[in-house]
Amino acid sequence: MRLIDTHAHLDEESFDGDLTEVLGRARAAGVEAVLSLGTTFESSRRMVELAHRHPDLYAAVGVHPNYTAPATEGDWQGVCELARDARVLAIGETGLDLYWKTVPLPHQIDWFRRHLELSRQTGKPVSIHCREAESEVVAELRHAAADGPLRGVMHSFAGSWETAEACLALGLYVSFSGIATYKKSEALRELIRKIPRDRMLVETDSPYLSPQPVRGKRNEPAHVRMTAEVLARELGCSLEELGELTTENARRLFGMVDRA
Ligand SMILES: [Zn+2]
Repeated sequence: MRLIDTHAHLDEESFDGDLTEVLGRARAAGVEAVLSLGTTFESSRRMVELAHRHPDLYAAVGVHPNYTAPATEGDWQGVCELARDARVLAIGETGLDLYWKTVPLPHQIDWFRRHLELSRQTGKPVSIHCREAESEVVAELRHAAADGPLRGVMHSFAGSWETAEACLALGLYVSFSGIATYKKSEALRELIRKIPRDRMLVETDSPYLSPQPVRGKRNEPAHVRMTAEVLARELGCSLEELGELTTENARRLFGMVDRA
C-alpha cells in the first residue's frame, strides 16, 4: 500500500506537540511522503526546516493568496531563496481566493503571477488554491501558459468540469481532498470519474478538511487513505491500485526520487 499526501500544512500550531507521532501514523497507513506547504515566508521557512528533519516530509514554499496583503518584497526574496533548497519540491501555496475577500483581486493576481514565474524559473511545479475564483484562475493560467508549458496541480479541487477541463488542457494535475468524501459532494464524485487517471492526486490539506468519518476533527496525513478509498470506489479499482496510480503521478509531477 503506497500513498502520497500532496498537500498539508504541518507547520500549523495544532501539530506542535505531536508531529513525530503524526508522521509515524502516516507511515503506518502507507503514506510514504507528505508535501507540506508554506502559507507565508515565515511558514515556508519553518516548512523547509521540518523537511530537513523528517525524511518523509517535503516542502513547498510560497505565500497563500489570503496572506499576500502584509507580505513584503523581503518576504518574496526570502521565498525565492528557499525555493532553491533541495527539499523544496513545489512552489505554493498560491492562487486566488474571492471567498474571504480580505485581499483585493489585483494584489492577489500580482502574487499569483510571481509564483507562476518562480515555478518556471526553478522548474518546480506550482500548487494552486482556487476558491470562488475559477474563471479568474483559468484566465491567469492561460495568460501564463502563453510563455510556455505549465507544471502544477489544482489542489483540493471542488470546481466545475469546465474548469477541470481547462486546467487539464493546460497540462495541470487535479488533486482531491476530504471534500470528495462528503455526502453533498455527489457532483464532485461524478467529476472524479472523468479525470484522466494519469493526472489524479490525493491530499488531506491537514489540519483542515477532514474526510468522513473523522470530519470536524484535526486532519492529518494518515487520513488521506479515507479519501483514496472514495476515489477507488468511484474509479472501480482497489485501494492499492488507486494508491499506486496516484503515488506514481505525484512522484512524476514533483520529481520525487525513489528511496532505495
Ligand atoms: Zn492548503
